[in-house]
Amino acid sequence: MKFIFITGGVLSSLGKGLAAASIGALMESRGLSVTFQKLDPYINVDPGTMNPFQHGEVFVTDDGAETDLDLGHYERYTQTTMGKKNNFTSGSIYYSVITKERRGDYLGGTVQVIPHITDEIKSCINKLREDGADLAIIEIGGTVGDIESLPFLEAIRQFRVDVGKENVVYIHLTLVPYIKVAGELKTKPTQHSVKELRSIGIQPDILLCRTERYLTPEVKAKIAHFCDVEQDAVITAKDVETIYEVPLVFHKEGLDEKIVKLLNIWTRRPHLRAWEMLVDRIKNPSKEVTIAVVGKYVNLRESYKSLNEALVHGGCANDARVLIRYIDSEEVEKEGGEELVKDVDGVLVPGGFGSRGIEGKIKAIKNARENKIPFFGICLGMQLAVVEFSRNVAKLEGAHSEEFNPHTPYPVIYLMREWFDYQSQKIVYRDEKCDYGGTMRLGAYPCILENDSLAYSAYRTKEIFERHRHRYEFNKEYFETLGEAGLQFTGLSPDKSLVEIVELKDHPWYLGCQFHPEFKSRPMAPHPLFASFIKAALDYRERNKA
Ligand code: GLN
Repeated sequence: MKFIFITGGVLSSLGKGLAAASIGALMESRGLSVTFQKLDPYINVDPGTMNPFQHGEVFVTDDGAETDLDLGHYERYTQTTMGKKNNFTSGSIYYSVITKERRGDYLGGTVQVIPHITDEIKSCINKLREDGADLAIIEIGGTVGDIESLPFLEAIRQFRVDVGKENVVYIHLTLVPYIKVAGELKTKPTQHSVKELRSIGIQPDILLCRTERYLTPEVKAKIAHFCDVEQDAVITAKDVETIYEVPLVFHKEGLDEKIVKLLNIWTRRPHLRAWEMLVDRIKNPSKEVTIAVVGKYVNLRESYKSLNEALVHGGCANDARVLIRYIDSEEVEKEGGEELVKDVDGVLVPGGFGSRGIEGKIKAIKNARENKIPFFGICLGMQLAVVEFSRNVAKLEGAHSEEFNPHTPYPVIYLMREWFDYQSQKIVYRDEKCDYGGTMRLGAYPCILENDSLAYSAYRTKEIFERHRHRYEFNKEYFETLGEAGLQFTGLSPDKSLVEIVELKDHPWYLGCQFHPEFKSRPMAPHPLFASFIKAALDYRERNKA
């Protein structure tokens, strides 16, 4: 196995995750198999407990890991399926070392950052070998110069010595800002960042320079000279219109060629036709549709990353551009839903936690149901659709989810006390007091679809596997009552104990699912529910125009 390590310099948010994913895409297009790892310097054991405002979306894998959102990019850009071994944090590394220390594994020795923490990091990297891929792409979170990332950088420095020079490439992502008053691209931040990296003992092989305009040969020569890299290893990472263009831009700059040369791997020429077609479809669609996303973290695109991408993919499947209108559910609470969703073609209520804006989301759902606007409820969105239906159609006054009102007379959504965990294949019991961490239903679960349903017509298959991340569930006690009132349960767990999908018959497109379909959507394989939802929104728009 060969290894590519990606570090970042100057400042965060330069798109290291997308760069890593794009390199993966290019390597796959050359016929190599890849795998990824994200090493995050923060102390949280995983991002599961972090506020999406701070950290962005928590990406959930098939095997039930709560991970960094970059793993979402890795899956979307390649054929890979990520899991627990693809994301580690300082917290998880220290946790494991301290557990060993308590167990007496270190036989009385002094436990230190070097070698114990660095060895632990290297053993995490080596876990990737189980995948048997040709190439592992490892992204170090944070920015070079942070105190927190030092042990990771030291570990990857040692790693090259351990496995041999010809098996490792270091790529550093920096910023080359264009300064208007000077009319110049400035290379100084890059020089400083590389200097910082070299002081830790890592000499980058390739520099990815994030910039607004193409680096001229002169600028490249200057960077090459000051940073001691070859000139053809200075790559322009120019801003693009759609993120799916990044692999193509990198290829034009010769990045994939340079990598295979440095690693001494022989591959075929890359096949990039599918990427070119994808970018063309995204940039030049023939139709357009507007979707209202009614949520809480609406002002932060990062917290709905996979959702936004899944909507783009759904648009792609229908040759349409999807304009997303973020609507703050608290606004709907105050203003009422009618005005805010008046000229949209579909309403989507995504997943979420916490009681803020809940009644606003319920209002938005009622509005979509009554006005027959295509409605898609995901996780919390599905739970609130059940609440709305219970209150307003089945006339269960005061119905709610136990999450928001533990004393509701009709707990149509409730906290499950025990369930069969599909990952460990064991029954899990929830401790009443300990409600956080380890008690969520996480990861992929099977679901059986009803033949005559919207879900089946979208998926065209009986059994699906979708990813979960929630504590509350549909309360089967209300199965009959709500069923008689017209709610359809079109997706159930194989043992029929869990309701996974609800639908309404007298509505052009109304579907709520307990799982998060957005995590499995890929640009090359748009998720069937998103494709079907966008199609319904297009139809709705057509009908309204007529
Ligand atoms: N808060 C809800 C629950 O825990 C929904 C979670 C979600 O939307 N992911 O069940």
